[in-house]
Amino acid sequence: MSRWTAGLMAASLILAAGPALAWREPGHETIALIAYKHLTPPAKARVEALLASDHDTLTKPDIASRATWADAWRVTHRETAAWHFNDMDIDHPDLAAACFGFPAMPPGHVASEGPADDCAANKIAQFAQELRDPATPQAERLLALKFVLHLVGDMHQPLHGSDHQDKGGNCVALAPSPDGKVKTLHAYWDLTPVEAIGGTPAQMADKLHAQITGGELDAWVKGDPKTWAQEVFLIGKTDAYNLPVKPTCAAPGAVALSPYYQAQATSDAAHQIKVAGIRLAAVLNAALGF
Ligand SMILES: [Zn+2]
Repeated sequence: MSRWTAGLMAASLILAAGPALAWREPGHETIALIAYKHLTPPAKARVEALLASDHDTLTKPDIASRATWADAWRVTHRETAAWHFNDMDIDHPDLAAACFGFPAMPPGHVASEGPADDCAANKIAQFAQELRDPATPQAERLLALKFVLHLVGDMHQPLHGSDHQDKGGNCVALAPSPDGKVKTLHAYWDLTPVEAIGGTPAQMADKLHAQITGGELDAWVKGDPKTWAQEVFLIGKTDAYNLPVKPTCAAPGAVALSPYYQAQATSDAAHQIKVAGIRLAAVLNAALGF
């Protein structure tokens, strides 16, 4: 995919901004804490038991910290990098292409073994199936939980579901940086509109959770990761790429974000974090709530 073939300009932008982690820690932790409020008692007991039995030192062992684990893991497991995205081209959206044809797990292998060419929607389904299957080896079950905790959040970041030959906004520089911290469009969506919600992840989870209506709950749990990916794509196309110019990795450039754009991004991020939290709970309840 073009996403993974950026030029030197893209590499320098990425280095300047740090790795593209998606939602960064505050977003992922908030999503996990919203999900935790919606786990059924059996699912909650099984999640707690899995977390307690996991001695992985890459992150702290609590559910919020484990939701950030897959970004730490991919630093030394680059073969898992593509699993964090469903990058559909805004001009030619095709989930099957973004998902490399939804590869099946090779017989005799577990989901954490690959293949590298895969996407968030397909991997969420595979890892959820492993959580559901009592025959899954315990080590794989722990990996499956950590991937599900992270990937459901990632796939709701609009620039993890849409692309314009710019590595999901990683080749788009921000000039000026709206807060002095983020240097690319992708990094902006990972962090700035989440921080605009205000508070710690626990406070954000309480605040956002209190806003969710019963009608929203019913609507958001419908569908599956593939239909959710189409929804996220539209937000990416309509809002994240609502730019006066659209630089690409082949023709990099800079954009300034208008106050209107930033207000929409803040609203979208709050909405997407709520939706992701409710859907993460739905995935875990379906897999572990029996
Ligand atoms: Zn990620």
